[in-house]
This record gives sequence, C-alpha cells and structure tokens, in this order.
Amino acid sequence: MITNLIHSRKYPVPPSSTPFDICVLPGDGIGVDVIDATLPLLDKLQHGAPFAFNFAAHPAGAQHYQATGVALPDATLAAARDADAILFGAMGWPEIRYPDGTEIAPQLDLRVALELYAGVRPARAIPGIRLPLADPRARDIDLVVVRESTEGLFASRGKGTIDNDEEARDTMVITRRGSERVHDFSFRLAQRRKARGRPGRVTCVDKANVFRSMAFFRKIFDERALRFPDIEARHNYIDATALDLIRKPWEFDVLVTENMFGDIISDQTAALVGGMGMAPSADIGDRHALFQPCHGSAPDIAGQGKANPTATILSAALMLDWLAEKSGNPALADAAQRIERAVDAVFAGGKVVPYEFGGRDGTRAIADAVASNL
Ligand code: ATP
Repeated sequence: MITNLIHSRKYPVPPSSTPFDICVLPGDGIGVDVIDATLPLLDKLQHGAPFAFNFAAHPAGAQHYQATGVALPDATLAAARDADAILFGAMGWPEIRYPDGTEIAPQLDLRVALELYAGVRPARAIPGIRLPLADPRARDIDLVVVRESTEGLFASRGKGTIDNDEEARDTMVITRRGSERVHDFSFRLAQRRKARGRPGRVTCVDKANVFRSMAFFRKIFDERALRFPDIEARHNYIDATALDLIRKPWEFDVLVTENMFGDIISDQTAALVGGMGMAPSADIGDRHALFQPCHGSAPDIAGQGKANPTATILSAALMLDWLAEKSGNPALADAAQRIERAVDAVFAGGKVVPYEFGGRDGTRAIADAVASNL
C-alpha cells in the first residue's frame, strides 16, 4: 500500500459536515483525460460516506497561456491556496513556450508559491503488471522517492544567465531550512512505513563528493538523522543510485534527494514499476498539498482515449489519505485503501492491459474496471 504514508503534521479538525474543497486543475493533453476518468470514482466514494467533496475546476496550463498569455491565472492560484487539496492533471505542451524557450510549467510555480517542498513519488510493483526487470525480486519493489521541490538546481529556473552566447550558468541552491524540512519529512515517512513492515530506512542521494552544496545537503541529513534513531540513515551518490535502481531496487525504502536528481530518478522508478501511467505523486507542504500523476501531458496520445488513468487514480488515493490525516476522519483513509485495492484487483487478473503496455484498454475501460471493483 502506498497510502497511509504521506502526512507531514497534524492539522486542525474541521466539522465533519463540511465538504472538502478540491481545486481541480486538469491542464493540458491527457491531463484532461485522466482527471475526467478519476472524478467519477471520487464521486462514487462519497455517496453515503461520512465525507463529501466540492470539486471546482480552474484553468491553467500551456493551452491557456496560448489563448490568454497567462499560464497560471491569479484566480486559479487563489483557488488552489484556498482549497483543502489540489487535484492536478498535467500541464505543458512542447510547441507552446515562453519567449525564452522554456516550457510552460505552472506546476513548478505552484510548488514554490504554496511551499510544496516534499515531492512524494511512490513506486510499488502492482501484481499483474509486467515489469522491465526479469529478476523475481522486482515484485518486491516498494519505495518512495522524496524530491525536494522548492530549491536545488530548479531554484535557477528562469534566472540562469548566458553571457555573450559563450557561457551559460544555472545555480544550485540548498538552504538549511529547505533541507531540514525535507529530511524530517522523509524520516517521518520511513517511520510510518516501518510501522507497516517496511525496513525503516532513508537513503540520502547526493553528489557530496563533488559539490559543496551537496555536501551541505548530506551534512544536514546526518544532523536530522540523529532525531530519528529508529530509522536507518544511509548515503548513496546519485550515479551509484542510478546503477542500484537497476541492479537491486528492492533494497530501497525511502530516498531523499535534491530537486533535479529527484526529477530524474523518479522517472526511473516509475519505469521500474511499469511506466508513467502507473506512477502517482503528491507534492506536500505544511499547509497545502497537490496530487498528480508523475507523467506529463503526453501530446502523442492526447484526446485519443489511450492514456492510462491509474497514476491519477492512485494520486487521488494519496489525496484521500492526506485529507484523512488533515481532518482526523478515518473513513477517508479507508476510501484511499479501497481505491488501491480496486486498482490491484483490476490488474491482478491480467485481463485489463493498458495501451501503454501493448494492450487494448484505454482510459475509460480502466477507470470503469476500477469503479466496478470499488
Ligand atoms: P513532462 O516533461 O511534462 O513530465 P514528458 O516529456 O516526460 O512530460 P510525458 O508526457 O510524461 O512526457 O510522456 C512520455 C511518454 O510516456 C509518452 O510517449 C507518453 O505517451 C507516455 N505516457 C505518459 N503518460 C502516459 C499515460 N498516462 N498513459 C499512457 N502513456 C503515457
């Protein structure tokens, strides 16, 4: 189970009759398809349940930028800020870019604006899904990459320089505050997972042998590790981690890393458990949280009904789990687990095979199969 894992701290308990405001940002391409497939499942879960949702969709993304000149409208940012949680599809489109050539990525702006510092990327081998590694131990893959999401190399986004068409620079930023909070989050996550039978281990992934910024990241990791004596703290260089994620990914539990490294290895871990369509994610801060599939807008299959919605459906489960903690309502945690069990049941039989894996089951067929297993 990937749910019941991602809470960062305790929240005030709202009256149980108050519906949760969910800010829905479908975005571009298959973001729209996978959100359309997921909302009916959440609607189904709330019928007769001791919780309720108010869904409100808001515009943002590359196509919105093309139409209006604004990628993330102020009203959308305000709605995201005011909501209890944000459910996000995908944003960006290769041909639509800012004048400096960079992609439209409001998700990155949201991470900074809402201080969503912990990018939680679980990768669990779902029974029945064909895995790229033949080793039978690959069936035991159950790890989480925690990607620091507000600084690192991405701090330079939009601020890099090119001098005289001769030299370009982007700068890595690692702060004590940013590192302490993401390391603490990762250790708490490992504690929760340990309570459910995982090893209770956090691996700091860095390049401390080369970069001062990365040595600082590791130093703070070691300092914070002392506060969590029940959790094993390990280090691994990013290059060795890339190798070990292919050689023995089943040995990892929680990995915490800098923004850019996390961006890269979370795609790698998604591939290890089947592909982008299977990989959910959550971007968690102390006040706000956003839930989205790891994949992008996939222009090659957008609007064709071929997108696998599983990553988004599992991201919605992470959202329910987070709301359970936020509100103190265990029925939401149960609903999260119902989604996960339904997804497992759909693929365990081997009858449902997404286009992504060479099968013939598209967005609607997969979502319907999950719905009927709920
Ligand atoms: P971004 O940079 O915005 O994360 P990306 O360039 O990494 O996006 P994706 O949009 O994630 O690319 O798509 C990468 C490949 O994976 C494409 O071939 C796409 O069709 C496929 N893909 C991504 N998501 C899904 C999905 N949910 N179902 C099926 N195929 C997918």
